Amino acid sequence: MDPFASPHNLDRELHSLLAQASSNLCDWFAESGGQAPMPDSFDLPDAYPAKEGVSNSVLLSELKLLMNGSYRPSHPGSLAHLDPPPLSASIVGELICAGLNNNLLAEELSPSLSSLERNLCKWFCQRLGFGDLSGGVAASGGSISNLMALVMARNIAGLESDPSAVFFASDDCHVSFLKALRIMGLKKESLQRIPTDENGELKISCLSSSLNKIKSEGKKCFAVVATAGTTVRGAIDPLSEIAQFCQKEKVWLHVDAAIGGIFGLSTITSEIVKGLGSADSLTVNPQKLLGIAKTSSLLLVANKNHLSTTFSTGLPYAEPILGNDFHGGELGIQGTRSAESLKLWIGLRQLGEDGIEKILLESIKKRCHLESKIDSSKFKIISGPLHLLALTPLNYTSSQASEWSIKTRTSLLANKFMLSRPMYEDRYYLKAVMGNPNTKFDDLELLANLINHSII
Ligand SMILES: *Cc1c(COP(=O)(O)O)cnc(C)c1O
Repeated sequence: MDPFASPHNLDRELHSLLAQASSNLCDWFAESGGQAPMPDSFDLPDAYPAKEGVSNSVLLSELKLLMNGSYRPSHPGSLAHLDPPPLSASIVGELICAGLNNNLLAEELSPSLSSLERNLCKWFCQRLGFGDLSGGVAASGGSISNLMALVMARNIAGLESDPSAVFFASDDCHVSFLKALRIMGLKKESLQRIPTDENGELKISCLSSSLNKIKSEGKKCFAVVATAGTTVRGAIDPLSEIAQFCQKEKVWLHVDAAIGGIFGLSTITSEIVKGLGSADSLTVNPQKLLGIAKTSSLLLVANKNHLSTTFSTGLPYAEPILGNDFHGGELGIQGTRSAESLKLWIGLRQLGEDGIEKILLESIKKRCHLESKIDSSKFKIISGPLHLLALTPLNYTSSQASEWSIKTRTSLLANKFMLSRPMYEDRYYLKAVMGNPNTKFDDLELLANLINHSII
C-alpha cells in the first residue's frame, strides 16, 4: 500500500478510496434529514497514529465515527448560525483543491489558481462598486480579513507606531475587532465604540462628536469600521453617510460586510447594502450564506496597491512575477495558503447569477415569513433587512429571559430545531438564521408555533 498516488499509472487504490469516501459522504447527506442538527452522543477514533498505519477500510470506518458525531448543516432544522450546507460543486472544489495541493503563497506554486483568485476578487470588486484600481485577496475567515484591513488602514495612515491611534466601530461590531486590537498591540481604548440606534445601526451623529473628542485629546484616528450585517440581528449601518463622513475627514472606511456583502451581488438586493462601493476596504464571507465550503472570505480593497504596500516584504525564494502583480504571499498576513477561491469559483459557476439571486431572495423571504408568524404581543423581535432575526419575550427580566432561552433552546432541539442563544445588550435572545435552503415554509410555521407556545 503506497499512501501517495502514483504519478505514472491510474492509482486504483486512490480511486477506490475516493469512491468509497464519496459514497459514505453522500450517505451522510442522505440520512441527515432523518437525524437531528446535533448528535446526542458520539464515539471518537484514536486521535493519534498507531505504530503501524491502518488500512483504508479502517480509515473509512473511523471517518464514519467522526461523521456521525458531526453537526449537520443540511438538516432542515439547522438554523442556529451562519453555517449553511455546502453546494455540491463546492465540495468537489475542496476535494480537488486538496488533491492539487497548490500554494497561493507564490505564483510558481499555483499558476492558474493565483490568476483565478485575482480575477475572482476583481469580479467581486466590480460587482460591489469598486473602480479600476481595486483588487483583493482571499483569507481563511472574516476575522483575518478584518485584521488585515485594520493593519492596512493603520499603515496607510502612517500610524503603525502610534500606540494611542484609534479606530471607530459600533457597539454591535464583530468580536474579531477585539482580537485585532490585541494582535495590533493596541489598548482597549483604541477601539472607540459608537452607540447604535433602536435598529442596531451605528448612530452617525455620534461619530463626529467622538472624532472631535479624540482629536481634542491629541489622538489620531486610522479607520472607521461600518458593519453591513451585524451578527445578532443583521443590521446595516448607514454606509453612504458614513462614507461621506470618512471622505470629509480623510479617514479610511472599512466595511465589515462578512454577512451583508454578498447581497450586493444581485441587482434586486443590492439596494439593501448601497454604499459598499464607497468603502476603502470590504470583508465579504461567501461561506456564510452562499454555501461555499469553509473557509471562504475575501478582503477587497478599492486600491489594491495598499495591500502590497502594507504586506509585501519581497519573496527572495520565489521567482518574480512578470508585470505589476505581487505574489499571493505579499498581499496579506498569511503565507502558505490553500486555493480557497477554487471552491468559491466553482460554487458560483454552479449557481450562476440566477442561482445566487435565488438564495439571497429566498433567505430574506423566509426571515419575513418566520417574523410574520411570531406572536409580536409576546416577543420583541430584532431584525434588519437580511435573513436573520433574534427574539426574546417582552416584559421579562433579564434573568427570566435567560431561563426562557435555555429552556426553549432545549425543547426546540428535542423537536429538531437548532437556534442559537446570543447575549445581546442586557439579555439572552434566541436567534434564527434563514440560510438553510433545505428549510421549508412548513418547517418555519412549526418553529413559530413552538416558539409562540414557549411562553404562556
Ligand atoms: C462571522 C463574522 C466575522 C468573522 O468571520 P470568521 O470567518 O468567523 O472569522 C466578522 N464579521 C461579522 C459581521 C461576522 O458575522
